Order: sequence, then structure tokens, then C-alpha cells
Amino acid sequence: MRKTGIFGGSFNPPHLGHKKLAVTAADALGLDRVLVMPAGIPPHKIPAAFAGAKDRAEMCRLTFSGDPRFEISTLEIDKGGKSYTVDTLTELKKLYPGDEFYLITGSDMLETFTQWYRWEDILDLAAVCSAIREKGKKLDYSGFTDEQKKRLIPVEADPVEISSTEIRAMLAKGEDASAFLDSGVVAYIKENGLYADRFPRYRRLVESKLDPERLNHSFGVSRAARSLALRYGANADKAELAGLLHDVMKNAPKEEQKSIIERGGHKMTRVELANTKVWHAMAGEAFLRLEAGVDDEEILSAVKRHTTGAAGMSLLDKIVYIADFISEERCYPDVETVRALASESLERAIIYTASYTIRDLASKGLPIHPDTVDCYNDILTDLTERK
Ligand code: FE
Ligand code: FE
Repeated sequence: MRKTGIFGGSFNPPHLGHKKLAVTAADALGLDRVLVMPAGIPPHKIPAAFAGAKDRAEMCRLTFSGDPRFEISTLEIDKGGKSYTVDTLTELKKLYPGDEFYLITGSDMLETFTQWYRWEDILDLAAVCSAIREKGKKLDYSGFTDEQKKRLIPVEADPVEISSTEIRAMLAKGEDASAFLDSGVVAYIKENGLYADRFPRYRRLVESKLDPERLNHSFGVSRAARSLALRYGANADKAELAGLLHDVMKNAPKEEQKSIIERGGHKMTRVELANTKVWHAMAGEAFLRLEAGVDDEEILSAVKRHTTGAAGMSLLDKIVYIADFISEERCYPDVETVRALASESLERAIIYTASYTIRDLASKGLPIHPDTVDCYNDILTDLTERK
């Protein structure tokens, strides 16, 4: 029977402590292979300093390359969001019915294991291996039946005293963390600008794409989005970044906008083709995704929806949409009204601006994007139902 280890974690980033633990466990248990499984993270839980799923999987690949027993599994990442261990094991059992599973966990796991979701089922599906830091330390097995105890396997491992959180803190300060990371990972982090403050990198990007006036507007929207995020409980770093990036393609030639929208896989409708003003939002999303390495779906969505709005906007979508109307350099007759509304209710501010946009376009004989109408109807209905 094939002995398969499962080694899960956020791996943000994976470090040499992870590797040492997994290799020690694989040796001690005589595992045939180990599935290294980066966890899926719900989009709204991804802090700004978090590497994307693709990056975390790639860094795992680099860390564990060279030992043929290790395979990277994107099972949980592909599912997106949080996965429970018991569900992952159930799925693996279906995929590999002939395998015997060993869950590899860190040293303090046993203390909290009985708080894991359906921990008894986990023990039915896999033996649970827990590293112990001190040689000969007796583990506390009270709370487990004799049958369950047989499924708990201590593995003596000399710990590497480092955590991903500490490594991220070092990298954010520009310190050298190469003693704790695979050299390939060090290079990868550098190349992709991970964990360093993302803001300077994207500031350089918009500076290279926008004229001074548009740049000034983008900084204004960025600040306005940050303050709205703080007011309404969204991730302020993300809002700031989405605001900075929202108009990134605004100054690009129309042909370039159109071609990147198509490359992004979007087939423009007749209304969109006739309405070149909305292109920069779709083009911005496609550009950021395809060419700027942005894989944060929340930021991409906010950029895409900032001009037309849409039905079912997320909090971040709403924040960027409204920040675009109330940033400090904006001056139009109603701006103070919109600012006042935005400090009370994002939804009421959106109704005000969307109905203005609809009236304005109609009065000029211009087409109205259906998303703008959907946005208006959707939020109006929300507000009415809430009354
Ligand atoms: Fe715009
Ligand atoms: Fe704008």
C-alpha cells in the first residue's frame, strides 16, 4: 500500500523549517510520497501582504524540488476559499483509494487537535503525525481513546525556529531572510516583488502609464478609497491599491485598450463597442491580470466595475466606485452632496451618482451601459428592502 503524507499550510512563504519538518516526517514514517498542499484562502481574508495562490504553489515547488517524494497539490487552492482538513482527506481518499494517509502537522498541533472540525473523522481517514521539539518529551494523549492513540504518531524533529509571519516582517523591512528560505524562493520573491510593500511597485506602474493630471486623480482616488475602507470596515490596503490602479489604462490608445480587452477573453457587446468611455475599466482589469501580475480578484473586480457599476457589487467595488466621485481633486457642482452621502451610506451615494449618470447620458443621447442600470436597480432594491 502506498504511504502518502499530506503536508498542508498557508506557505506564505514556505520556508526551510517547513521543509525540515516534512522531510523528517517522510523519513521517519517511510513515506512513498508527500503531497504539499497550500491552503486556499477566502479572497476577503487575503491581506495585502499575502502572496497569491499561484505564487505560494510555485514557492512550494521550488522549496521541495530535488526530493522526488514531494509533489505539490493545488487541490485546496483550486477549490478556493477555506477547506476543512476532513473534506480534503475525504477527497484524497476518493482520488487514491489504495493509499494510506499520514497527515503531517507542526509541533503544537496535538494541544489543539480536538478543536479541529470533525477531528475524529480525520483520525479515521489518516494517521496524524505531530513533530515534537524536545527529544523524549511525553505527549499528552489524554482525551483520546486507545484506538485513536494508535493513529497519533510523534515524530522527533529538530525545529527551525522561524515562522512565515516573521519572514514576511523581515522582508517588509528589506532585511535578508535567505538563511530561512530556499535560494530559489529568495530569487522568486525578489523577481515578483512579493511581501515588499506592493504600493511602490504599483505607483511606478501608474506613473509610467498616466499623464500628470490622471496620476493626480489616481492618487486622490487611492486616498479616498482608503478612508472609505476605514469608515466601512474593508481592507484599507487593498482599497488604496485598487484606487491607485483603477484608471491605469485611461491614457492608453483606444486600439490598445480594445486589444487587451479581447486578449482578456471579453467579447464586447454592441453597446460597449459604441461607448469607448467604458473601455478603460475593462482594459484596466485585463491589463492588471495579464501584464501586471495582479491576481487579487477583489481588486480586479473593483477596477473592472468602477465606471459602470454592476449588480451585486462587493464592498470594495462600491468603495472604489464612489472614491472615484469624491476624491479631493474632483470638482463638479454636486461633489459636496455626494461626499456627504458617502459619509452616511455608500449605497445612497451610488444611487445618487448612478441616477445622475443615467440622466446625463440619456439627455445627451448617449448609450447607457446595462451594468449601470443593473447597479441602480440592485442597490435601490437593497435600500427599499432594508427600510
Ligand atoms: Fe475611470
Ligand atoms: Fe477615475
